Amino acid sequence: MNYQRKYNFSPGPSQLPEEVLVSVQSELLNYQGSGSSVMELSHRGAEFQSIIKQTESLLRELLTIDDNYQVLFLQGGASAQFTNIPLNFLKPGQIADYLVTGQWSKKAVEEAKRIGQVNVVADGKASNYLSLPELDSWKLSDQSCYLHLASNETIGGLQFKSFPNSKSPLIADMSSDILSRRFDINQFAMVYAGAQKNLGPAGVTLVIVRKDLLATANVELPVYLNYQTHAEADSCYNTPPCFSIYVMGEVLKWIKEQSFDHLIANNQKKANLLYDFIDQSSFYSNPVQKEFRSEMNVPFLIADNSLENKFLYLAKENGLLNLQGHRSVGGMRASIYNAMPYAGVEALVNFMKNFEKECA
Ligand SMILES: *Cc1c(COP(=O)(O)O)cnc(C)c1O
Repeated sequence: MNYQRKYNFSPGPSQLPEEVLVSVQSELLNYQGSGSSVMELSHRGAEFQSIIKQTESLLRELLTIDDNYQVLFLQGGASAQFTNIPLNFLKPGQIADYLVTGQWSKKAVEEAKRIGQVNVVADGKASNYLSLPELDSWKLSDQSCYLHLASNETIGGLQFKSFPNSKSPLIADMSSDILSRRFDINQFAMVYAGAQKNLGPAGVTLVIVRKDLLATANVELPVYLNYQTHAEADSCYNTPPCFSIYVMGEVLKWIKEQSFDHLIANNQKKANLLYDFIDQSSFYSNPVQKEFRSEMNVPFLIADNSLENKFLYLAKENGLLNLQGHRSVGGMRASIYNAMPYAGVEALVNFMKNFEKECA
């Protein structure tokens, strides 16, 4: 690794693969002989059109997405989809089901409530969001427009390991775990993700939506808010976030080159290394129920929490950045997305061992 670069455990925007940054740098001034940077290319020109098509086709290949799904590259982040989903799919007089498992899925509910009628099928509050509500406790509506969940709660570090078979269209916020593992797209009517965790830089939001759901979008919406507008224009209704889409494409090539299976195995190894270390220690702890622990975001506490600032200060001195927990929960959190190398997690565990020795 380049000596100036450090391991960045930020929840997002997060570390990008170094190989991708090097490749982006190498063609930054002159993209493939065009004489322009990707930042300067027309979004309607042949070069960018080829970039966006290739990015989409790599994504379809990696996630085995067939033609009955539309792939969209939008803006506004996952947060804008919290609003756009009910605007498009929650019809007046109807109801949408939402599962609350932590702060992000709760935010989705709050937005949907501003637009229509919401039924919270289950809320993990009783477990302090340390566990997922048992499937047989979910109070599903008889007829809902869709069922919404967050596959990975980035702040709490809680992750679905499998997904329910849903009668109503299943919609998932996968912002913090898309492409970190395999899932069957055919179980979902829609998945979406802001790019800045596992896919690339901030600025582009991925939406994968089944065409039969897309066809039911509310046509009375302002044009820009209607998902169909972006589908009909192949995500170029207006200027898309060209550079972010290009870098996402480079990240997808990086995944394909090492193989998706290799990346998945590495993610499991990284998470196991960190959780196993935390579990054998009485100095550190992770409170999440084991079977639902996130492979991407690992929150942890120090028994004596007065040591947190020292921990964070020394971690930074040792080239381990952004380990503070979310401002709402405190403690520490290591986000170990796709681009975090195994060596980064090893460096973290070694640092934690030394810190424990020094302070325990
Ligand atoms: C980060 C995150 C969001 C918010 O994403 P933005 O792109 O900043 O709007 C939403 N949901 C989850 C699960 C996230 O991790």
